[in-house]
Amino acid sequence: MLREELIFVGTCDIAGQVRGKGFPARELAARKKQGVGWTHSNLMQTAFGPILDTPFGTGGDLMVVPDMSAEVCVDFADGSAVEHFFLGDIRNTDGSPWECCPREFLRRAIAALDAASGLHLIAAFEQEFVYTGVEDRPGHAYSLGAWRRQGGFGESVIAALREAGLKPDSFLPEYGPRQYELTIAPQPALKAADQAVIARELTRATAFRLGHRAIFSPMPTADGVGNGVHIHFSLHDAGGAAVTYDAKGPLGLSEVAAQFCAGVLHHLPAVTAITAPSPVSYLRLTPNRWAPTAIDIVKQDRGAALRVCPVFAGTTPKKIAKAFNLEFRVSDGSASPYMALGALIFAGADGIARKLTLPKYTGEAPPLPHSLGEALDGMEKSAAIKEWFGPTFLDAYLRHKRSELAHVAALEPPELCARYAEVY
Ligand code: GLU
Ligand code: MG
Repeated sequence: MLREELIFVGTCDIAGQVRGKGFPARELAARKKQGVGWTHSNLMQTAFGPILDTPFGTGGDLMVVPDMSAEVCVDFADGSAVEHFFLGDIRNTDGSPWECCPREFLRRAIAALDAASGLHLIAAFEQEFVYTGVEDRPGHAYSLGAWRRQGGFGESVIAALREAGLKPDSFLPEYGPRQYELTIAPQPALKAADQAVIARELTRATAFRLGHRAIFSPMPTADGVGNGVHIHFSLHDAGGAAVTYDAKGPLGLSEVAAQFCAGVLHHLPAVTAITAPSPVSYLRLTPNRWAPTAIDIVKQDRGAALRVCPVFAGTTPKKIAKAFNLEFRVSDGSASPYMALGALIFAGADGIARKLTLPKYTGEAPPLPHSLGEALDGMEKSAAIKEWFGPTFLDAYLRHKRSELAHVAALEPPELCARYAEVY
């Protein structure tokens, strides 16, 4: 059969879906600047596809412009089409950034952190998912059996990631039925978010070629185990030195890292609407799931919103400082990595700017929002979030999520989880 290579350019939008358009590969030179055509209401496509509400109507033109440093070109060597795509930015027709572009939201957050502290953040995404290519066998949590039974899937995922220029850190069988986890090595924030999108998509692309699916939905089944997206992070100065650790600081945090974390905790009642942005996210954020339920920071506790991670085999203070990192656990696969990491950084930068200190709770830490509706209400009330988003983007975001919530309001948890497992 005759074939000519095609390229896709897209972005991971506020529904956490990668959407865009394709063109013949031979046209790439021309497409570098003009990208592909897009329109404002494209942003309002829900996780399920349809636009349920939009402030933008049918008017207006934008472009999705490929970023040459975010290219994926992987030939799975199985006769299938080459997986060739670029991640990019949503821009106005004059080339300026569109205020509602998720990737631009992260860029603005990075700039806010720089303005507040002169620091930058390095992140590593740890993503859990269900692979449908294996049967669910009892007793196989973390087992060699579950690891073996995925066959060549894991190796193909790793090879595809390597081909795309990523540095895989680990691939493992997780606690839940048919659940696996993939972690990519730390990178500067924007690159880390790009690579989180790429890792998700290449995992899906590999599963697809094997006739299966990789499901990143936060709760694939109502009574099962959640899929988390844990964001590990550390702070670095302009010279690249790690500045997160201080042996004498609270929980081993430097003053600036404690301020950053205090900002994250302070904004969590609203930020959760961005990092856990689907109704099923809140079925995951419930007790006994190794997922957070409270606005807390704890040393080496996998049930905390912010976990202060251990340093393995850290023999010298310098080595400890270099490896020391925190883990943000209130995030899942229904969030765009650009939005989740952007919100985390904005919140942390605000903590530094306002010199916030870590909260001292008498008794239990306050709970995380119990539903997406509650989190969205928190978001709407937050003056800080209004500033991070700007009025147009904030209105679009709230309308997007609230229209989706109304759309699935009648569904009971089992059906709700099934619907979200179909789309993530
Ligand atoms: N599956 C858990 C979650 O939903 C995390 C388990 C772990 O600590 O790896 O976040
Ligand atoms: Mg895990």
